[in-house]
Amino acid sequence: MEISQHNLDRILFCMEGVGWKKHELTDQCQYCQETVSQRDNICPGCSAHVIWLESPTWKRLYGKPSEYLLVLTGDKLKGKTPLQVTVISAYGSNGRFRTKTQQAEFLRVEKKYPDAFIKHVLEWAVNKRVPWRSFIGGIKNESWLERWTEEEIGGLSDEEQRPGISSEELSRMLS
Ligand SMILES: [Zn+2]
Repeated sequence: MEISQHNLDRILFCMEGVGWKKHELTDQCQYCQETVSQRDNICPGCSAHVIWLESPTWKRLYGKPSEYLLVLTGDKLKGKTPLQVTVISAYGSNGRFRTKTQQAEFLRVEKKYPDAFIKHVLEWAVNKRVPWRSFIGGIKNESWLERWTEEEIGGLSDEEQRPGISSEELSRMLS
């Protein structure tokens, strides 16, 4: 998603003495160089999103630039897999990852490690209320993964692992 940001204060500074009224000042789109006015939230040239900082005109029409930006970028931070949604419910905010960095960190481990293992670490992390760093660190902990893998594979109780034949049967087979 293209977002072209413009700062009226900076333009005012450059245009000082040219005789334009403040609200009439324009800028060029950062992507296609089309002229964008302070009444634009979409570039007439390339349809990039346009955000004006320090512009009372733009703010009156579209609200606070920071909140507008959050709405635009917010959807990108939404969870896309059931596992991401679960992790977000523990560590995100408003159904989204808190930051791009948090999202990127999780996408990396999600790609690399089994979902069931991540869920296992998440359960621990939520129980212990550990911070995000420790949660990610726990997933990357190779010895945890090893132990978990052993438990998953050899996860039968001792009772279930009793031999299914009697000693007589065994000696018959061995003779
Ligand atoms: Zn443009």
